[in-house]
Amino acid sequence: MSVPRTLGDLRRSTFSEERLRTRRVKDELRDNLISRLDEKGDASVFPGIVGYDDTVVPQIINAILSRHNFILLGLRGQAKSRILRALTTLLDPQVPYLAGCEIHDSPYAPICKRCRDLVAQMGDAAPIAYLSPDDRYVEKLATPDVTIADLLGDIDPIKAARGGHELSSELTVHYGLLPRANRGIFAINELPDLAGKIQVGLFNIMQEGDVQIKGYPIRLPLDVALVFSANPEDYTARGKIITPLKDRIGSEIRTHYPSTIEEGIAITAQEAWTRRNGNKMHLPQYVQQVIERIAFAARDDKKIDKRSGVSQRLPISAMENVISNAERRAIRNREKLVVPRISDIYAALPAITGKLELEYEGEMKGADFVGRELIRAAIAKTYDEYFTGANVQQIVQWFDLGGEIQLSDSISATDALENLRGIQGLIDKLGPLGISQKESPEQQVSGAEFVLEGLHAHKRIGRNEERVFKAGEKKPEPVREKAFDPDEKPYRQRRQFN
Ligand SMILES: [Zn+2]
Repeated sequence: MSVPRTLGDLRRSTFSEERLRTRRVKDELRDNLISRLDEKGDASVFPGIVGYDDTVVPQIINAILSRHNFILLGLRGQAKSRILRALTTLLDPQVPYLAGCEIHDSPYAPICKRCRDLVAQMGDAAPIAYLSPDDRYVEKLATPDVTIADLLGDIDPIKAARGGHELSSELTVHYGLLPRANRGIFAINELPDLAGKIQVGLFNIMQEGDVQIKGYPIRLPLDVALVFSANPEDYTARGKIITPLKDRIGSEIRTHYPSTIEEGIAITAQEAWTRRNGNKMHLPQYVQQVIERIAFAARDDKKIDKRSGVSQRLPISAMENVISNAERRAIRNREKLVVPRISDIYAALPAITGKLELEYEGEMKGADFVGRELIRAAIAKTYDEYFTGANVQQIVQWFDLGGEIQLSDSISATDALENLRGIQGLIDKLGPLGISQKESPEQQVSGAEFVLEGLHAHKRIGRNEERVFKAGEKKPEPVREKAFDPDEKPYRQRRQFN
């Protein structure tokens, strides 16, 4: 489709002065949002954002309808940046500006001197160029060393000398990120990390449309939708945000982690790289549930820093590593079917530990230890979901009578299955997992290993570092079946008195 290339043609097109002159970015977002809501309803506004339909999404819709600048308050890994980026889908497919303008001036109301001079000289022959929605999104991570020059601009003495301009002339300004986001969306992540002086500059631009650069007042009535993100505690901490800036942020919207395991699984399934070239994969549901519960358990664990939170990136990277470990086993054993096991989750510790910010107690125990504890708690809970009330006495007894079995994470499914068949009452107990003896050896082994890991997580049987399952360190007395209780103390360790 050909578009007008000069100001004169533009006037006679659908990009008429009448339509564009007063249509600011926030009007554009609002108009496009309204037509989308009209066509498809609330859920369509942020496709791919799971679990926010009843909480975050309606609040963002209201903020945009209100033409507010807004801030998303939330811990890391709560899709804040993703939501902000998705705002570009509410921008027009293309918007005209005066070609060559560094701050994308509107052809009908240029704010920079270069463009005012240009239109005065060339009139309707002034050349027009276009911006796509992506061109109109500028993002900046705030850090304490961000300067006025970075964000707003600087006086460029060389430009002044070359052009023969006064230093205070607008033509000598080297524009910073914010003016370059003119007629678009400017997102600042971690707003409280911005120095107070810069916040004042930001406020002046929002409020008065002017700014002082190195003492020279520069008038810049920008048209920008400002959006921010921050950690809630930083944002509410006294003195971190200057009050007038806070007042100019129309809506504060709290994000959150998935509220149910199912939502977490849906996000992880969407984000993790699971569809790979190579062998066919079967990803058991209980493996997905355990991975997701690691994040849930971590968010509740007092050994982990509440302030920074536990990102949804933890289960996502863990899932990718789990599948890779299963892939590696399949390649090694020349198996055609990739089926992740619980041992693959332990092998995925490198994808887990880095995402935990530990408190003092956690630091003392070490990230590996904390990670293993979380996996174990997640296994115990997931096991209960399938096997509460199941009679597993026979299996426990097999171990109590001296049975031992090694299940390394690299053992082939056929070898493992042969060994596992030796445990009476195990392989025929996998019904709750939907696994019968007709299923592939890979699936049966994964299911049986999950049962053993579950019993181990409940301390009914033992397991050492070499992944040898054996009798638990408990007195061989009848144990009654009961659900996992996270507050329950471990079985008493046998003490040696001598
Ligand atoms: Zn301009």
